[in-house]
Amino acid sequence: MTVNGRVNANHHHRDIDHSAVERAAADLLRALGADVNAEALDETPRRVADAYAELLTPQPFRATTFPNEDGYDELIVAQAIPFHSLCMHHLLPFHGVAHVGYLPGERIIGLSKLGRVVEYFSRDLQIQERLTTQVAGWLEQELEPKGVGVVLEAEHLCMSLRGVQKLGAKTVTSALRGVVRDDARTRQEFLALTTRGSHDQ
Ligand SMILES: [Zn+2]
Repeated sequence: MTVNGRVNANHHHRDIDHSAVERAAADLLRALGADVNAEALDETPRRVADAYAELLTPQPFRATTFPNEDGYDELIVAQAIPFHSLCMHHLLPFHGVAHVGYLPGERIIGLSKLGRVVEYFSRDLQIQERLTTQVAGWLEQELEPKGVGVVLEAEHLCMSLRGVQKLGAKTVTSALRGVVRDDARTRQEFLALTTRGSHDQ
């Protein structure tokens, strides 16, 4: 998945055919009974294509890691990282916050990179469970930490707008690995930190 610490965009590289997306968006508008010749809709197909291209194009980043020289042996947690992604079942956004933590082994990584990892995997046709496990898997692979914890809380517009869920209701997913999963005290500590983070919202 990575080459020399750089996230390999080919991991889920897609070719976006911008003009085909524009034509499809115009078709969709027509199928929805819209007057595509109306001036107000003139630019809509292009805007739709731009928006999807942006939502589905991950930004590669350099995942610089550092040796854990001081032997830091406590959880490192980035709380309430805002994110948004695109539900692959409805092509509607889901958005919320991610809590990402790990118990370091030999390597540590800059805190801001934890947010970049979430953003990287968010820019895809996603389901929340897969996004959660991808972030956890990436950290495991890159850092070989003693444990990893990822909790995502998100509102899915495909659920709240259709009344399946109340507006603002959150879906929570988690991926716990290593000692964060297996050691009761570490797991509780991680989950307490993520709960506190969401109360600060
Ligand atoms: Zn959906």
